[in-house]
Amino acid sequence: MSTASSSSAAATAATTTEAETLRRNRIMSSKLYFDVPLSKVPLIYSPSYDIAFLGIEKLHPFDSSKWGRICRFLIVDGALGKSHIVEPLEATKDDLLVVHPETYLNSLKSSLTVSIIVEVPPVALLPNCLVQQKVLHPFRKQVGGSILAAKLAKERGWAINVGGGFHHCSGDKGGGFCVYADISLCIHYAFIRLNISRVMIIDLDAHQGNGHEKDFSNDSRVYILDMYNPDIYPFDYEARRYINQKVEVVSGTATNEYLTKLDEALKVAGHVFDPELVVYNAGTDVLDGDPLGRLKISPDGITSRDEKVFRFARERNIPLVMLTSGGYMKSSARVIADSIVNLSQKGLIDMVGSSGKN
Ligand SMILES: [Zn+2]
Repeated sequence: MSTASSSSAAATAATTTEAETLRRNRIMSSKLYFDVPLSKVPLIYSPSYDIAFLGIEKLHPFDSSKWGRICRFLIVDGALGKSHIVEPLEATKDDLLVVHPETYLNSLKSSLTVSIIVEVPPVALLPNCLVQQKVLHPFRKQVGGSILAAKLAKERGWAINVGGGFHHCSGDKGGGFCVYADISLCIHYAFIRLNISRVMIIDLDAHQGNGHEKDFSNDSRVYILDMYNPDIYPFDYEARRYINQKVEVVSGTATNEYLTKLDEALKVAGHVFDPELVVYNAGTDVLDGDPLGRLKISPDGITSRDEKVFRFARERNIPLVMLTSGGYMKSSARVIADSIVNLSQKGLIDMVGSSGKN
């Protein structure tokens, strides 16, 4: 090696170390990890998750207040006490800089850029302060929830962020309604704050999770099991190379075949990787009738699917974070709430705060 190239290699190494130190400092000084009393259940939600204003939410083909509706169903069903819900903090700019370059965050100051990422063209016409307040603030709250979920999962065995799961966003690029890379952020915080070094992402949203795949393309600490429909967005062939375990389910796949493939996949995953944390991206756009996912999974199939993943983690004693991700039909909220109730009835999660009754 010539002197010139060895000094440039040394400079690169120094820059990498500097970037790592900066990242570590940001994570260590973040307020997103806060202590949650045992009287609360590790189910994370804030009313500010829901995006609804001026009727613009109706322009995107989905239910943008599904997060609140999930919680309302759980409360009305008597499965969850309102006061037991954990409300997260909003991710700040410094928190987001852990994975997002400043240039990317600055690009969100353009309403046009945000409108393209969230796929709602009229957002381009709004003043950016409104976009920040009505669209980006809800997303940043959900990001805060995904990050906090890992801490709670480590303490309690499981945590559900009723939002999050923005798996199309990588550090430097948003898309497909995903503005911030909450999964990558959640995992980087867990590396540093929870001293975890092996994470398994189980991504069962109908779409390929190209965001986290790009972010962890060269990181052997993260094992990715992605079960997705290859016939729909995002067609990210480069990111597909970074999936450790790829399970493709073509348009029209029905419940039985889907669940059999999941059983086989979990069996393999459990043999080849021994995680300290599971991040479960539980999109419900696999539901029969979903115009985007194009699969034919029944509501009961979703319940069985979630139960299988929770059992997988429980049998191995691995903390599990669940994110609700995609799936915005009017029926999705009810299906998700029913599945959470089933997890509770099967003893896979405990929805009663330690103070006693709901
Ligand atoms: Zn999806």
